[in-house]
Amino acid sequence: MTRKMRSIVYGPVPSWRLGRSLGVDLLPADGKTCSFDCTYCQLGRTVRRLTVRAEFVASSALALELEAARNVAADYVTFSGMGEPTLASNLGEALRLARDVLGLPTAVLTNSSLMAREDVRRDLACADVVVAKLDAPDEQLFRRINRPLARLSLAETVEAIEFFRAGYAGKLALQIMFIEANRRAAGRLAAIASRLSPDEVQINTPLRPCPVTPLTAEEIAAIREEFHKFANVVSVYDAPRPEVTAIDVEETRRRRPEL
Ligand code: SF4
Repeated sequence: MTRKMRSIVYGPVPSWRLGRSLGVDLLPADGKTCSFDCTYCQLGRTVRRLTVRAEFVASSALALELEAARNVAADYVTFSGMGEPTLASNLGEALRLARDVLGLPTAVLTNSSLMAREDVRRDLACADVVVAKLDAPDEQLFRRINRPLARLSLAETVEAIEFFRAGYAGKLALQIMFIEANRRAAGRLAAIASRLSPDEVQINTPLRPCPVTPLTAEEIAAIREEFHKFANVVSVYDAPRPEVTAIDVEETRRRRPEL
């Protein structure tokens, strides 16, 4: 596969969770690669539905792009991109490389689906921040909202996040996307989230262009109340976004079409 320069490192993007976020995408460039196909996904439908890890981008190619980004002002190097970053089998190596070259803290935005794997937990432990998705309190809503590959189960995923939390010294945030389908499940989601002892809960609703209507600021404010008792809570409506200039606008918009 031919990739143009700077197609792995993109942004920085203004993140309501991570400030000036320099993105790293270790996934294929042609369409989304994910174990889920969330109804609200801004990247369109999943092209490659996988739970098997592979090396899609050579670490040597990443090293070159990181070197070129040495002088970019950013707060975090964030592993996200065109799908689920834990599908990249060289994620751990790439996280260490990013920290060594740029001297910045690292973050991974994961859908949590592969956390039951020991090698995935080991890779995620290399990050300073892990932001783990949890959108549903039961299997039925999990299938309806996240549309996971059939073999994935919510119960196993929650257990894996709990296990990861127990051994992880970094910051664990839970990201929860609220839409009409799970709006009334906030209490049940809070009960599960409290068991996982996150450092932070990030309450989201799809404000970026996608097929699903976002909840209002008032609805999100009511949902926040369920989570305040046990964790620091941030919400997409309240958090500030910094001003940033992307190093390559085209490559940034491929992952963040709204920018
Ligand atoms: S997990 Fe993320 S990338 Fe995958 S389908 Fe859901 S929102 Fe899109």
